[in-house]
Amino acid sequence: MSDLPTLRESLEQHGLMAKKAFGQHFLLDLNITRKIVRLGGPFDGDPVIEVGPGPGGLTRALLESEASHVIAVEKDSRFLELLSELNSAYGDRFEVIDGDALKVDEAQLLADRKLPVGAHIVSNLPYNVGTPLLIKWLTGPWQPKSLTLMFQLEVALRVVAPVGDDDYGRLSVISQVLCDGVKVMDLPARAFTPPPKVDSAVVRLVPRAERPAAAVIKNLEKVTAAAFGQRRKMLRSSLKSLGGEALLDKAEIDATLRAEQVHPDGFLRLATALT
Ligand code: SAM
Repeated sequence: MSDLPTLRESLEQHGLMAKKAFGQHFLLDLNITRKIVRLGGPFDGDPVIEVGPGPGGLTRALLESEASHVIAVEKDSRFLELLSELNSAYGDRFEVIDGDALKVDEAQLLADRKLPVGAHIVSNLPYNVGTPLLIKWLTGPWQPKSLTLMFQLEVALRVVAPVGDDDYGRLSVISQVLCDGVKVMDLPARAFTPPPKVDSAVVRLVPRAERPAAAVIKNLEKVTAAAFGQRRKMLRSSLKSLGGEALLDKAEIDATLRAEQVHPDGFLRLATALT
């Protein structure tokens, strides 16, 4: 580790500048990345998948942790050479994959490397794909053991918002039905290079042991899209195309409520009733 150049030196040596198109806002202070890793752990000797290592500040902190392996998926191939230098310090505990995290099959990735399927996700997410990536990990066939994710503050607040809150919406319901989630850290825009326009926060999510069937999860996406698509309307009207009052009766939900008044458990009953 001590032989590695600083992150700034590394960026300079490779002539790399942040690109807006890839949502690049780097964390160059290892005290911050180490804190994120502490808040995300313990990893108990499990593998960690990191999305978007960029110059590798979070990657270095992950490699200092007790994670067995760190597999990093980076879409911007300009960073591959810089990142491969981490292999000289950490050998085959580290691998960087040139690819788009939205398209990666994580279960296959782990199986191909003979790593246990139970891995953790840690990422300072590119803002432009943060929400689709979260939805993929929450609703997809592969289950991470935990997710420690840096989002723009507005998205982080939506993930953990309780029922009745202004930020409570689709992302809150889907996240909270499937996971226990806590906002564990706030970071001002100035902590990043270059600074984004908005502040950020880290959310840690742990998928619940009891997971609804895949068909129910699909329905949860449908019901929340319909209900929050017209969030000011009563559910009997916003859910009309999915069964309206009959569906609400079956799920024992008051048809005069609006989406923001229904607890995640209520949405789970609606998704189950729709099956
Ligand atoms: N982890 C680094 C840090 O904390 O300094 C960089 C974080 S930066 C906010 C987001 C990173 O994700 C960038 O390196 C960017 O190139 C990468 N990225 C953007 N879209 C991606 C995608 N679809 N799949 C994988 N990586 C992506």
